[in-house]
Amino acid sequence: MPETRYVFVTGGVASSLGKGIISASLAKLLQSRGYSVTIQKLDPYLNVDPGTLNPYEHGECYVTEDGAETDLDLGHYERFLNVPTSQANNVTTGRIYQNVINKERKGDYLGKTVQIIPHITDEIKRNIKLLGTKHKYDFVITEIGGTVGDIESLPYIEAVRQLKWELGHRAAVIHLTLVPYLSASGELKTKPTQHSVKSLLEIGVQPDVLVLRTERHLAQDIRKKVALFCNVNPRAVIQSIDVKTIYEVPVKMQEEGLDEIILEKVQLPVDEKPALKDWKGFLNKLNNAKEVVTIGLIGKYVELADAYKSIIEALIHASTYNDRKAKIELIHSESIDASNVESKLKGLDAVLVAPGFGHRGIDGKIEAVKYVRENNIPFLGICLGMQCAVIEYARNVLNLKEANSREMNHTTPDAVIDLMEDQKNVSDMGGTMRLGAYECELKKSTNSLKAYGKELVHERHRHRYEFNNEYLESYEKAGMKAAGCNPETGLVEIMEIPEHKWFVGVQFHPEYSSTVLKPHPIFLAFIKAAISEK
Ligand code: GLN
Repeated sequence: MPETRYVFVTGGVASSLGKGIISASLAKLLQSRGYSVTIQKLDPYLNVDPGTLNPYEHGECYVTEDGAETDLDLGHYERFLNVPTSQANNVTTGRIYQNVINKERKGDYLGKTVQIIPHITDEIKRNIKLLGTKHKYDFVITEIGGTVGDIESLPYIEAVRQLKWELGHRAAVIHLTLVPYLSASGELKTKPTQHSVKSLLEIGVQPDVLVLRTERHLAQDIRKKVALFCNVNPRAVIQSIDVKTIYEVPVKMQEEGLDEIILEKVQLPVDEKPALKDWKGFLNKLNNAKEVVTIGLIGKYVELADAYKSIIEALIHASTYNDRKAKIELIHSESIDASNVESKLKGLDAVLVAPGFGHRGIDGKIEAVKYVRENNIPFLGICLGMQCAVIEYARNVLNLKEANSREMNHTTPDAVIDLMEDQKNVSDMGGTMRLGAYECELKKSTNSLKAYGKELVHERHRHRYEFNNEYLESYEKAGMKAAGCNPETGLVEIMEIPEHKWFVGVQFHPEYSSTVLKPHPIFLAFIKAAISEK
């Protein structure tokens, strides 16, 4: 096994250029060559983790198996690599400072003045190297959040400078920038890239590879010019041209030779190009699906599709494997009421009610569940979506008109969804929910068991409230059944209506574990139900 190699991915010129996708694509290519690879995201903000962030701020909060609340880029890493990530894969400035300050309070610094250099940078370096030394990966790819030149990311770039020096041939730096096209003059402009590399050089970091995001093909002369100005080998100036789907990026990066350039740089053999057979098989299906499946995704953050990133990707995976093109209609839950629910949901092949927190938009979600339940439209409710299905059933079938979740109404006479016992004394908001993977035992003759094909599954959670088991008997008598429970605590994890075409509410988040090569069974079955009889 080779000594761990470290690849750093920085960004310049603009944010949102897709460092996460480039990192994941390189990782995929190295993994296809037989290396063990992990990807880490370093986020320069002061929150200890993104768990307390509003989705409008930062998109979805992605939850790992070990219960870390993390950046949504970790979702891309898992979807591309099919390997679980953990808390160690996402570190924020908040966490770095928290660790350093805790050590200082313990007296670990022996009377020294604690400073950004070396103490903060040492803690950053320790977190980067941990994945190599403790988890023994062949490659650790570290994505530095933000853009070079930001005050916040300076300590990270400084840590990269030091590590590059310490690790020698075992480290490489990829800098991702933008080459804008000016339609007025019909030109592609490289100056922003030159300036961005200058900013990196000012802090002492010479990039080894430049990946240039572009709308148009970059001719050889442009690449040569960038290489000349930025002290980079012309072969190591590569383009990342806009593509229809993020899943095409690994193929494009292979064509550009990104993995080969990195292997040469870190002094590992460049053998044959991997065929990427399964990956290309998926892409083929994705690009060639003719028939469409239309799914309504009902949530309150629909203005920002990133808030539902993993759900949208899981729907794409499952539709693709069902030979369908996913047409996802984002419907704002606040826009739905009894008078318009039919016109809003008519024509959809299936409806997914999204997770969420708090009261806003809840009435529209409940109205939507009622409509799909009564009209036999395939339904998947995730977390709050499942809780809404439970509330709707109580109000309209069990005749408990004021039934609610304790989260929405503290004094409801029928808290069919109630605060979990171990949440009752929790006052801190950060990292205190029921988080991470728990077992769920599936009941016989259920849609869930049929979908998974096995009785015991592990799924990731992120919630404080839970189905209230005092009501289970009434539900089951009326026709809504617990289809899966936690074997230790008896908490209900899945509710189903067996009489319905396909009606499944899950307390957990199946979307987090759907990957390109391993689509999630619940999503597969949901889409299958959506397209049956069509
Ligand atoms: N707000 C609900 C709870 O805490 C649902 C959470 C979610 O949808 N992730 O139980």
